[in-house]
Amino acid sequence: MRKLIAGNWKMNGSLAANAALLQAMLDGLGGKTPAADMALCAPAPYLAQLQSLLQGSAIAWGAQDVSSHEQGAYTGEVSVAMLKELGCRYAIVGHSERRQYHGETDALVAAKAQRALAGGVTPIVCVGETLAERDAGETERVVKRQLAAVIHAVAHCTSEIVVAYEPVWAIGTGKTASPEQAQQVHAVLRAQLAAATEHPERVHILYGGSMNAANAASLLAQPDIDGGLIGGASLKAADFLQIVASAA
Ligand code: PEP
Repeated sequence: MRKLIAGNWKMNGSLAANAALLQAMLDGLGGKTPAADMALCAPAPYLAQLQSLLQGSAIAWGAQDVSSHEQGAYTGEVSVAMLKELGCRYAIVGHSERRQYHGETDALVAAKAQRALAGGVTPIVCVGETLAERDAGETERVVKRQLAAVIHAVAHCTSEIVVAYEPVWAIGTGKTASPEQAQQVHAVLRAQLAAATEHPERVHILYGGSMNAANAASLLAQPDIDGGLIGGASLKAADFLQIVASAA
């Protein structure tokens, strides 16, 4: 399977900064096929810009969230049909920042994943434990509970999701899970997927949490790490391209 390196810009960017960043990435690729599939998940107001600047390139794009509702009186929400119209291939769902700061539950994340799939957008489903949960020996239980909710909701479409294991304590902190720690959790998630789909090997399981140009190669070398979800380092063209190259 080709690895997938997806960037999560979070709430960063401006029209001018995005144009410069995207141009630097496209220049860096130089029209060649990258060593991994690439995607960038941008704030919703910039998705039209990504569509216009990335169309026809090797870089796909996506959103950082999607509504669990189809359409209607849901002020502030963005529907999957809108994302689809803007050419999005992916939508992150259940990022820990949304679970933590916006009270998103496992059930809501599962509904979002289901809505994304139904609308033809691939959900990148984030799971991960806090430091307190890891210290209490609860990592496996937490990630399995989070993924189980999504598997239950999407059922026979499970092989069409992307999963991102993102230990909360590693996001934006500069603390990365060791390749062994990450692989251990990825193997648990793969086994859980195997019970739900005939083709667990088709599901990309990404690692996210302070992945950067220096540590990407050793993480991506693990057998069940199929790519990365990259926050901070996706805002620097050279770093992001280096991570993509590390996937070779
Ligand atoms: C993320 O936001 O999904 C993430 C992994 O962030 P960072 O790479 O900055 O830790």
